[in-house]
Amino acid sequence: MLIAINKAHFPVTVLGPGQRIGIWFQGCRIHCPGCVSQDTWANDASKNMPLHDLLAWCRQVASEGLDGITLSGGEPFDQPHALLALLEAVHTWRNERALDFDILCYSGYPLKRLRERHAPILKKLDALIPEPYIDKLPLDKLWRGSQNQPLVPLSARGHTRYDKFLDSPAATFGKRLQINVDDQRLWSIGLPARGDLEQLENLATQRGLSFAQVSWKP
Ligand code: SF4
Repeated sequence: MLIAINKAHFPVTVLGPGQRIGIWFQGCRIHCPGCVSQDTWANDASKNMPLHDLLAWCRQVASEGLDGITLSGGEPFDQPHALLALLEAVHTWRNERALDFDILCYSGYPLKRLRERHAPILKKLDALIPEPYIDKLPLDKLWRGSQNQPLVPLSARGHTRYDKFLDSPAATFGKRLQINVDDQRLWSIGLPARGDLEQLENLATQRGLSFAQVSWKP
């Protein structure tokens, strides 16, 4: 089974509680105006990887202490078969090793549609943040890109971990962004406030740095 992945990173600390694996799916058909992850939109066969390799990497980094896995994108539900296969394998791993990490998934599709079309996938998630990103709505809720996006616990573990954060403000844990340097690339993880990335680009330009390619523009 192949899965198209834009990137995977550990530890991620701004997209869910604790120290997490972040997996960004490649490909999104939704195209929300103002999306800061436009580099994940295209279907790109060069981003395919064997599911087995992704799981092997997850097992390796988890030895450093894992509180959760966050699935984002791109649009995870645009690869429903690979997403379900990944979740089934992660459940097997979690059960076999008696681990206690949670699984949080983002989606730009409405919750109603996901419940109607993807119930077997939702059964494998502990929490979900659905609904499209809406650029003109405030970014004021923890881990949400815009105010319309609910945080929906879906399992007993999900309720234990997330119920207390349903209405938490965006600044609950202080920081909203992580910046990582990876070979020749600098990339941000998390949910920037409106205009943050343009400001970063302007500041860099003033200091003589130019970005060859940025994720928030086509
Ligand atoms: S915000 Fe998410 S769902 Fe919307 S276009 Fe960007 S990647 Fe796709």
